[in-house]
Amino acid sequence: MKCKYCDQIFLEDVDIGLNYFHHVKINHYDLLTDDDKMIHDIREKMIKSKKEYETLKKKIGDSDLIFNQKNMDVK
Ligand SMILES: [Zn+2]
Repeated sequence: MKCKYCDQIFLEDVDIGLNYFHHVKINHYDLLTDDDKMIHDIREKMIKSKKEYETLKKKIGDSDLIFNQKNMDVK
């Protein structure tokens, strides 16, 4: 897949969407139309909230583990 705005080629793999997304953000954000910018921003928020959710899930999982550990110590 070739970039819409420059000659950079993106290899077809599972991360292509994310790689291309970051490439456009870093290199071509000013070239996007207002509509494209809006879609880009929404997508970025979705990616960010997904990451935050996974981080949060991990944190909760970890604190659960610590909590259970403490309970075991009390017994
Ligand atoms: Zn490009």
